[in-house]
Amino acid sequence: MKEACGVVGIVAAGRDVSYLCYDALYALQHRGQESAGMATFTNQQITVVKDNGLVSHVFAETALRALSGSLVIGHTRYSTSGSANWTAAQPVYRSAGQSGFALAHNGNLTNTTALAEAAGLSVTSMLSDSDLVAELLAREVESGAVLADALGHVLGRAEGAFSMVILEADAVHAVRDPHGFRPLCLGRLGTDDAPEGWVVASESPALDVVGAAFVREILPGEMVTITNDGVTSRQLLEPASGAEKLCIFEFVYFARPDTYLMGHQVHTSRRRMGELLAAQSPVAADIVMGVPDSGVPAAEGYAKASGIPFGYGLVKNRYIGRTFIAPTQNQRAAGVRRKLNPLRENITGQRLVVVDDSIVRGTTTRALVGMLRDAGATEVHLRISSPPFMWPCFYGIDTPTRDDLLAANHTVAEMTEYIGCDSLEFISLANLRAAIGLVDECCDACLTGHYPAPTPVAIGRASRW
Ligand code: SF4
Repeated sequence: MKEACGVVGIVAAGRDVSYLCYDALYALQHRGQESAGMATFTNQQITVVKDNGLVSHVFAETALRALSGSLVIGHTRYSTSGSANWTAAQPVYRSAGQSGFALAHNGNLTNTTALAEAAGLSVTSMLSDSDLVAELLAREVESGAVLADALGHVLGRAEGAFSMVILEADAVHAVRDPHGFRPLCLGRLGTDDAPEGWVVASESPALDVVGAAFVREILPGEMVTITNDGVTSRQLLEPASGAEKLCIFEFVYFARPDTYLMGHQVHTSRRRMGELLAAQSPVAADIVMGVPDSGVPAAEGYAKASGIPFGYGLVKNRYIGRTFIAPTQNQRAAGVRRKLNPLRENITGQRLVVVDDSIVRGTTTRALVGMLRDAGATEVHLRISSPPFMWPCFYGIDTPTRDDLLAANHTVAEMTEYIGCDSLEFISLANLRAAIGLVDECCDACLTGHYPAPTPVAIGRASRW
């Protein structure tokens, strides 16, 4: 699975907002490594700098100096919709209206074909769902609508997941879809009594890194508008009926451990997942280890609750960018070895509990177990801190179809045999929810098949999807 994207918006008069945005994007690098971009309003025009690559590769200091002004938005991208090449990097710019506008999007729209056709457009002529939204907004603005109202018209017809930031001459708008699939939070620079600026970002560590205090999360369907005069809010879109549906995998895997989501720190939730998994699926073993990075807190929790010592068994190469889909099992195994290497002295002759966050295709897990056995493990017991991944995601996470999801096509016994481990257990959905501290406030469609928003294709057990 690949993360979707990270977004940032900052308004702070008298501050070097492009430098602040750079730091915030750096804190959100884990949400997308394909491309990065920034847009500011400078000298009566919007300037966009974007390119393929990591944040540190895309922005030289000369580029940051040129991105002056007091308003900025930024984006880190992993493509779940549209092309992965440079042209689809964000922010997306349109010259409509007096100043034009720029838009950056985390999520995935599920009704792009209908949206495009209703406007007389071909969805294949659009670079991405974000490009389509920008085009529809531009048409409304060209027809005389103010951008904030155009956002209500266009996003009111959109289905799926979107946490979006939009820059125009004198404002940054931040909108979250009616289900709240993807996170988005608001922070304040300066003090309560004397605010010096405002920041919106996908995750709270992006606020921390620029010295902004966390204020609150943007609500489902809410639009926050930030200008040099402060922050205003309006309920742009009717919230979906029922509870908020933040992606449960933000807690399991996507978000940084130091991120706060719905009042819960992700690291604490992950530790608790491990504790509950130990009570639910105990096993006799010598050492508990996590698959870096997101499996490690859950492994610590498992060790604490089981009394089995925690140890490090895998070293992760932190400089791996995007890897390519390897066509053969041998090449896939090589891909795992590029990312992870065993600490042999902690493994040889040991019965291992290995805690990982998920199993999608199973190929990586199988290669990992083979590597641990080669390093001398006598037993490998896999404990997974999410329930079986059975259904594809349409809300901004890149997942395979049902054909390629291991758990959709195999029993746990068959998966155990395929992966080559001694035992395999998944946390139950009830325990996962208990670990997070939320009951019904998360999307869990990829675990249950209960999709809270319409999907672009019919989903059924017999379908390829
Ligand atoms: S389907 Fe799964 S991955 Fe997608 S938003 Fe829902 S919980 Fe997250």
